[in-house]
Amino acid sequence: MTRLKENGEPLHPPVNGVPPAFVEIDRRRARARELRPSASEAVAILMAAECRCGAWKPKGHAFCKSCFRALPLICQGGLYNKIGHGFEEIFGEALEWLERSR
Ligand SMILES: [Zn+2]
Repeated sequence: MTRLKENGEPLHPPVNGVPPAFVEIDRRRARARELRPSASEAVAILMAAECRCGAWKPKGHAFCKSCFRALPLICQGGLYNKIGHGFEEIFGEALEWLERSR
């Protein structure tokens, strides 16, 4: 059933016939791809002693404790992937998540 606003318009109108939830997922995926680092950027990220938020982080870790804990478990687990074996993709998704949940 379509939920309606007080003025009778649908609460979540389809965009070009696509349900808004799918549009949102596509938008998030596209943003995660934009934020995805290259392999050499990923090396620099891991070797840095500073997190994206400015806090100290141990070298070899992708994020500081606080950013890491803000991530969904599936994302946390994926950050143990090696560079070239999924790390960059998950890091892009993690950045997208943190950007959205600020
Ligand atoms: Zn951080």
